[in-house]
Amino acid sequence: MSSELADRSWLETPLRFLKGIGPVRARQLAEAGYRTVGELLFHLPHRYEDRRHILPLAEVAEAGPTTVCGRLHDLRVVRVKRRGFSLVRGVVEDASGQLPVVWFNRPYLPSQVRPQQAYLLHGEVHRSEMGRLELVNPSTEPAAQAIHAGRIIAVYPQAGELGPTAMRRLLSAALAHVDLVHAVPDPLPAELRTRHHLPALGQALADLHLPGEGVDVELLNERRSAAHQRLIYGELLDLELALSDRRAEQRGRQKRHRYAIDDPLREVARAVLPFRLTAAQRRALREIAEDLQRPQPMLRLLQGDVGSGKTIVAALAIVLAVENGLQAAFMAPTELLAEQHHRGLARLLGGRYRLALVSGRTAAESAALRADLAAGSIQVAVGTHALIQGAVAFERLGLAIIDEQHRFGVVQRQLLQAKGDRPDLLVMTATPIPRSLALASYGDLDVSVLDELPPGRHPVATELKPESRRREVYRQLRADLATGARGYVVFPLIEASERVAAASVEEQGEEVRSELGEFASAVVHGQLPAEERQRALAAFAAGTVQVLIATTVIEVGIDVPEATVIVIEGAERFGLAQLHQLRGRVGRSERPSRCVALHGRLSVQGRERLRVFAGTNDGFAIAEADLRIRGPGDLLGTRQAGLPTLRVAHLEADIEWLERAAADARQLQPRLGEPAYRELRRRLDRLLGERAAPGLD
Ligand code: ADP
Ligand code: MG
Repeated sequence: MSSELADRSWLETPLRFLKGIGPVRARQLAEAGYRTVGELLFHLPHRYEDRRHILPLAEVAEAGPTTVCGRLHDLRVVRVKRRGFSLVRGVVEDASGQLPVVWFNRPYLPSQVRPQQAYLLHGEVHRSEMGRLELVNPSTEPAAQAIHAGRIIAVYPQAGELGPTAMRRLLSAALAHVDLVHAVPDPLPAELRTRHHLPALGQALADLHLPGEGVDVELLNERRSAAHQRLIYGELLDLELALSDRRAEQRGRQKRHRYAIDDPLREVARAVLPFRLTAAQRRALREIAEDLQRPQPMLRLLQGDVGSGKTIVAALAIVLAVENGLQAAFMAPTELLAEQHHRGLARLLGGRYRLALVSGRTAAESAALRADLAAGSIQVAVGTHALIQGAVAFERLGLAIIDEQHRFGVVQRQLLQAKGDRPDLLVMTATPIPRSLALASYGDLDVSVLDELPPGRHPVATELKPESRRREVYRQLRADLATGARGYVVFPLIEASERVAAASVEEQGEEVRSELGEFASAVVHGQLPAEERQRALAAFAAGTVQVLIATTVIEVGIDVPEATVIVIEGAERFGLAQLHQLRGRVGRSERPSRCVALHGRLSVQGRERLRVFAGTNDGFAIAEADLRIRGPGDLLGTRQAGLPTLRVAHLEADIEWLERAAADARQLQPRLGEPAYRELRRRLDRLLGERAAPGLD
């Protein structure tokens, strides 16, 4: 259709061709990210003001935002001393009365105003000390074409150097002569629009920029108008389609290796097991075993709160892989954790297989180790991101496991996968993911949940203490230690450089050590040589050291079941998820445990965080509260994951739309090749094409 072509070219018109946009404006808009009319249309208002009510001048009786309509007269420029500043005074008058007006920096106004014309003015009425009312610096426009008053007004966020009023002017100029409903093609198939009772995209944009007369302002301000919902759903559908697309691509591949899981193998697995699995662990293991036996690579997230016992599930998956002639790689985010996993797995599996630790140090040093990995004589590699270095190669990597996966980016995950030929992938996280985030960022993974702790566990009793009570806290700690308890004291990293931070931890550590007197303690932080760190941790695990004084290097994964008390210094400096992880270092056995959060002055948010923290041991509740307090922002990291970003939608607030979008996307994905979905497919390709890192999927 020719009209459609014409409309498309309108959307692609560079902004500098728009009436009222000169080279300066065009440059400012380009700097804010807007080059074409079509792009500018997505600069959406963030709130709305109801300026429909025009007050007769006789009724202007109090200070505050006011809209009036009348003729302007007696306009004159008033001399002021300040350079670069000018004042115009005048009077606005309607049939009922009049009101003095003052404008700032609009010296041209007196020559522009037509005496017989009605003007709409919106601004603040001020009351002088003498009790005189005056309208101050109002927007001023001929009533017949008013965009700033006399209606529901869209208020735009700043765009670079351009303020809300300028943006309103620009957008209304852009929209002035166009029927958006026809001009903007809607990629959403009519079927979906009908299903969810949504307006077309063009209509939605028109309603958002220029709300009609009878619109409900409250709905607009709460982002609940039909127009908002159209955009929210559209964004979330894009996100979910991108995820389904990635999933379909991954699922489409066939792996080279095949599994046979028979009785002798089950016997080996049983022999390795140091305890009875919980029902949740058994279920997760069954799901993993089923995945492994499929022709396509496994893509599974194992999610379980701190202490739920993810490691043993991973260890059993490793047994299945190695017994099937494959190598396994187990990657953890910190050296300390990699070291611990290496020790633990060696204890379980060391009698049967050859294991190696591949951390920064060992990988760089040992050519022999790398050769054995490449030759396949080492079957299990446990390590840090050193595992994904170029020099590390496997002979037959069949299973890639990532612990504390939220600490890694998608890129690292893919690099580890690339060490094998379509290996099965198991990622684990102790940060329980709220449903909205699971839907939004792990949509390409299958999920197993450990929703049960090993038997006999107790919630960790948590207390908040202001710093003024530190002495009392340490007195209590000494009393615990006197009964043979083991515990942690954790300090936040508050220095900019790690080296300085390490120094400060050592200093604070010394203070704590003197406070603890006769009890054996050790200080660990990231700057300590690995051997020393390992020695300290081993001594702590063995019980010869009773207190581990540490930075957040112990935050994730560290597992010393005998530890029953943790003191968190400067607790207000930690995020909620981090606090929960730290607390998860205790309560890992049948012994009751406790946690003390020592805090300094609290911000409103800080107080809320600590209140939630002390109020529950449920990682799921904590993650949801975290999301509520912080907002999804960087928690999600869709940007990092190379997915479409969200402008209007909120993962948390719009969870219902997210769920609909996820369901629709799964249903739609296989049909994206059909003509009805052409526009959607095109849009998706474009969105995915914009991803920063090439060749990731
Ligand atoms: P996380 O899920 O936080 O990684 P771990 O795998 O470190 O938890 O397990 C926490 C502790 O619980 C470890 O000491 C582990 O040996 C123990 N554990 C795990 N599963 C069981 C079980 N089924 N019965 C008893 N202890 C268990
Ligand atoms: Mg763990």
